[in-house]
Amino acid sequence: MSRIAYVNGRYVPHRRAAVHIEDRGYQFADGVYEVIAVREGCLVDRGPHLKRLKRSLSELGIPRPMTDAALCHVLAEVVRRNRVADGMVYLQVTRGIAPRDHAWPKGMRPAVVATAKSLRGPSAEMREQGVKVVSLPDLRWKRCDIKSVSLLPNVLAKQTARAAGAFEALFLDEAGRVTEGSSTNAWIVTKKGELLTREADEAILNGVTRQAVIALARKAGLKFVERSFTLREAQSAAEAFLTSTTAFVVPVVALDGKRIGDGRPGPFTRRLGEEYRDYVARFARKGAS
Ligand code: PMP
Repeated sequence: MSRIAYVNGRYVPHRRAAVHIEDRGYQFADGVYEVIAVREGCLVDRGPHLKRLKRSLSELGIPRPMTDAALCHVLAEVVRRNRVADGMVYLQVTRGIAPRDHAWPKGMRPAVVATAKSLRGPSAEMREQGVKVVSLPDLRWKRCDIKSVSLLPNVLAKQTARAAGAFEALFLDEAGRVTEGSSTNAWIVTKKGELLTREADEAILNGVTRQAVIALARKAGLKFVERSFTLREAQSAAEAFLTSTTAFVVPVVALDGKRIGDGRPGPFTRRLGEEYRDYVARFARKGAS
């Protein structure tokens, strides 16, 4: 079956979908995006994703391209036309098209692209064996809370991690604190049984999965503290894991070649992983498309 993409008001074959060479997303990475998981054709946490999209747009002074209802219609339609049951939908909004100049003219119309694809979801192997991560300096700008398409430091870090046989790179700020992964939020469980993830300041993206897992941890009565932690704390943690829309809850069993805890996914991670999978399954049952 051929894939279909939404590009500025039209549904077009994916292989022919194209944007203008003077789209500011292409020339300046002047745009934002969202990735939303799809379960049984339904969008998971659609509300928080759209809320974050609106915030990212507003922080960059890009007007909203359409109402939430219209955007939801486009996303549902892209999912339907691509017959995606389980997978993800990608939405990108750029400032639009204008002759190349750093400053932009008045009255620009944002450009919108949406695609959807089937994914098998995080593998059982990853969940059961855990993954390795490596630490790298965080070379990004000072507004990582905005979900900008400007991902060069992230893609370079991910590539470095993969070349080193690791799943993810953990970014470190200048004080040696972990900010987040290149496309995930980072968590640890201390030997005292405290669950930690960095506060959602401007140094990290406030992950929608992060927010859902915080709520699940609180509900489960786990000792949760929202604060940053250092590389040293991560190295001596009892457990570590990552969260994201596509990876869910991924146990981390090695950091820079050294084992974390006993080198296997720990009980907090397993529990939160299970709770999060149940949480996702509930969206499919509710039919929140
Ligand atoms: N941090 C970064 C830098 C990311 O790119 C992502 C995934 N887009 C996340 C965290 C996780 O966010 P979410 O749970 O909303 O997918």
